[in-house]
Amino acid sequence: MELIKQTYSAQETKQMAQQLGQSIEQGLLITLQGDLGAGKTTFAQGLAKGLGIEKTVNSPTFTISKIYYGRMNLIHIDAYRLEGLHQDLGFDEFFDPQWVCVVEWPKYIQEILPKNRIDIRIIRIDEQSRLFHFTCDDTLAHVLEGIV
Ligand code: ADP
Ligand code: MG
Repeated sequence: MELIKQTYSAQETKQMAQQLGQSIEQGLLITLQGDLGAGKTTFAQGLAKGLGIEKTVNSPTFTISKIYYGRMNLIHIDAYRLEGLHQDLGFDEFFDPQWVCVVEWPKYIQEILPKNRIDIRIIRIDEQSRLFHFTCDDTLAHVLEGIV
């Protein structure tokens, strides 16, 4: 299924992602595609809040992945620096019902991503506005119903 949503501020993006986080009942893989500054990390921050995580998610500068604990645990992977690196980093352990996993720059680890996931493509419309294009298998459609 597909869903398109436009937001008009970073705050609105966080609220939308938080709603999604609140409706997640078990481990799920979410990928976020979009240029630098599109809003991938902003989305991840709202999602984490919806998962009951109190720490602020930020773009890890020196690490590829970071773990956050809450009602549901989150692993945030930024694959940006993995371009061209085709080695086993052990991420597949996290594609597991115990973890919600968010991947920024999924194209760099495409070959290890399971098919059962929600893909989100973010397009920058202007300074404050972004278009979110959600795609997922019909079996996951109920998760997107949390977004209004
Ligand atoms: P990315 O992780 O994709 O590189 P970030 O989330 O780090 O992007 O940065 C997005 C920037 O765009 C932030 O400074 C944020 O405040 C700003 N922004 C402005 N409008 C929006 C919006 N509608 N949704 C998300 N971010 C927005
Ligand atoms: Mg980012």
